[in-house]
Amino acid sequence: MDYIEKDILVHGYSDYVPFEFSNKIIELVDRIRNIEVDDNRFCLELRDIGSREVINLGRDYLKDKFMIHRVNYLSTECREKITKSRMDPNILCRLYGKKIDPFDIPVEFKYKNYFLGDLLLGYDFSDKVEVLKKMKIYFEKIYLSKKNTVINSSSYVHEIVHTQIERKGAILDHNNAEVLSIFMELLFLNDLDSSNILLYIGLINRIGDMILSYDLLQLKKDDISTYKNIKYFISTAKAIGLFEKYINANYLIKDEIVNNIQNVFDGKMTVDYFLSLFDINLEDGLGAISLIGI
Ligand SMILES: [Zn+2]
Repeated sequence: MDYIEKDILVHGYSDYVPFEFSNKIIELVDRIRNIEVDDNRFCLELRDIGSREVINLGRDYLKDKFMIHRVNYLSTECREKITKSRMDPNILCRLYGKKIDPFDIPVEFKYKNYFLGDLLLGYDFSDKVEVLKKMKIYFEKIYLSKKNTVINSSSYVHEIVHTQIERKGAILDHNNAEVLSIFMELLFLNDLDSSNILLYIGLINRIGDMILSYDLLQLKKDDISTYKNIKYFISTAKAIGLFEKYINANYLIKDEIVNNIQNVFDGKMTVDYFLSLFDINLEDGLGAISLIGI
């Protein structure tokens, strides 16, 4: 069984349908490609705030806005034991796993890139469909950049949001898996800094990555990269579309968006349903990006 089948089974995503690009989408991407970056605003000479502050800023921001749920955790040692064992991994996960505050998931500062973050999940213990269907997702570690700037806090916010929605059946279309994490990462940068410099840096990084994912898709590399690149391309466009909608909305709509994200965290609503409530789709997202005054 390959990575894609496992990912779909464990998350409870709907079946994966390869994506077709319409002419409208191709035209919008070309328009976005020509956005000129203002080098005076895209500066990465940001102050070092120390690793403790990186975590504290992200944690305080999220705790202030949401009720954050405890999550399933497996230590690296336990995950290794389960990987080596021949016993039913679901039984072992129940035995070794525990519920913890997601802010207690160990964090390792290892990437050289300012923007990188990653979340290590435990579920790759079996090739059996029945076992994977039952398997819960466990979190093991969060990886962040070694550059301790506020950008790193935004990656931390991104990863913690993943812990709240990486649950069986919380996301139906795997292409929506990154939307809320990217949206909250941008909102964090927006709320932290009234000069908008941080938001500018975050947006330019995301738009650049989105164009890169699109270009990699055109190269039609292997299935796994296609599966991942299409997810980042679609999720980023929708996340920025949602962000533009939020920024231009009155406070009642803003509250409604935040309250419904809480509903997703609480397991009362899927990410997909949330997006349909606010009319978020790929074309509108790309349209919003092409109009961003940057
Ligand atoms: Zn992510």
